[in-house]
Amino acid sequence: MKKYIYMDNAATTPVKKEVLDEMLPYFSEKYGNPSSVYSLGSMSKRAVEDAREKVAKAIGANAREIFFTAGGSEADNWAIKGIAFGNFDKGNHIITTKIEHHAVLHTCEYLEKKGFEVTYLDVDEYGLVDLEQLQNAITDKTILISIMFANNEIGTVQPIKEIGEIAKERNIYFHTDAVQAIGNIEIDVKELNIDLLSMSAHKFYGPKGIGALYVRQGVKIDPLITGGAQERRRRAGTENVPAIVGLGKAIELAYTNFEEKNNRLIKLRDLLIEKIKANIDYVRLNGHPTKRLPGNVNMCFQFIEGESLLLSLDMEGIAASSGSACTSGSLDPSHVLLAIGLSHEIAHGSLRLTLGDFNTEEEIDYVVEKLVKIVDRLRSMSPLYEKVKEEK
Ligand SMILES: *Cc1c(COP(=O)(O)O)cnc(C)c1O
Repeated sequence: MKKYIYMDNAATTPVKKEVLDEMLPYFSEKYGNPSSVYSLGSMSKRAVEDAREKVAKAIGANAREIFFTAGGSEADNWAIKGIAFGNFDKGNHIITTKIEHHAVLHTCEYLEKKGFEVTYLDVDEYGLVDLEQLQNAITDKTILISIMFANNEIGTVQPIKEIGEIAKERNIYFHTDAVQAIGNIEIDVKELNIDLLSMSAHKFYGPKGIGALYVRQGVKIDPLITGGAQERRRRAGTENVPAIVGLGKAIELAYTNFEEKNNRLIKLRDLLIEKIKANIDYVRLNGHPTKRLPGNVNMCFQFIEGESLLLSLDMEGIAASSGSACTSGSLDPSHVLLAIGLSHEIAHGSLRLTLGDFNTEEEIDYVVEKLVKIVDRLRSMSPLYEKVKEEK
């Protein structure tokens, strides 16, 4: 078989074998409903509670503060709509940023249509929010600040502790979409003053369709899904037991040998950036040079369409992404790249390579070798590039 190289770990990750092994019995032998009183049911109940403990432990929360959802999008929807509808008596103003995932952005836009007011904070050229702008945006109607921990496209990590302090001081709930951060950054929700935190298992080697929302004890939030009494009446529906077990195992693994894995990824990331810069001209790194996710590389290649780059890489057996997986298929440039000030033209030439636990240094060399050839070929078809070269 032709070599296949997967460098799109921000889009999703494979389920690790240890995770799958723990999940399998809960599909067939241990199929009981956690709400049932007989032993088959209580076995499932124990498995769910065990996973809840693991999630809580990983982020410094109490197990009572963890609620399972059907993924990151549901967790984001619940956090934002749940706080908005649950605290309408206090105010109708929400603060977020222009670079959030669509699960947050489109939820906020929906709430605007329902009478809420939303401030979308700018970011600087690196994708960082301005804490002073945040302070100034707060009004006596502000009920929620929702700012992502780390960006899925450019990898920029926000000053979460400082944001948490501001929110606490002003008595406003603070939600963070930590879908990209979990497993990649050590997080203690108490230390960071986080009130609500979203996560999704498939971004850290767990299964798809399962996530969790951390809701600090005492936070006033409406349910999103109503029905049965599951999840202490906050999220109805029979629990997805195998997936919950998988989430628990995946988060436990993610923070085992964390330092070692993290350092390895950072080394690989910096090597990839360095080699691209050394071998290809007219490239720029998007996002912050150091305040960025360990596996994230996002670069713009001038005079090239990101989509053509992706197709050529695919033909070489390399899986990557141009900006955001959610926007590929449409030709609109990524809202994140526009927010950091790139022109439409430059933004179109972006490529995201996201590394994970299974990538190797050998693969980095292979990808750079192919990338050099592909960029060369694509640019040779660009009249603009030829002109710039002549003028040089
Ligand atoms: C993937 C992702 C989501 C959505 O999570 P799903 O589990 O796929 O619904 C939300 N926010 C960020 C930052 C993501 O990367």
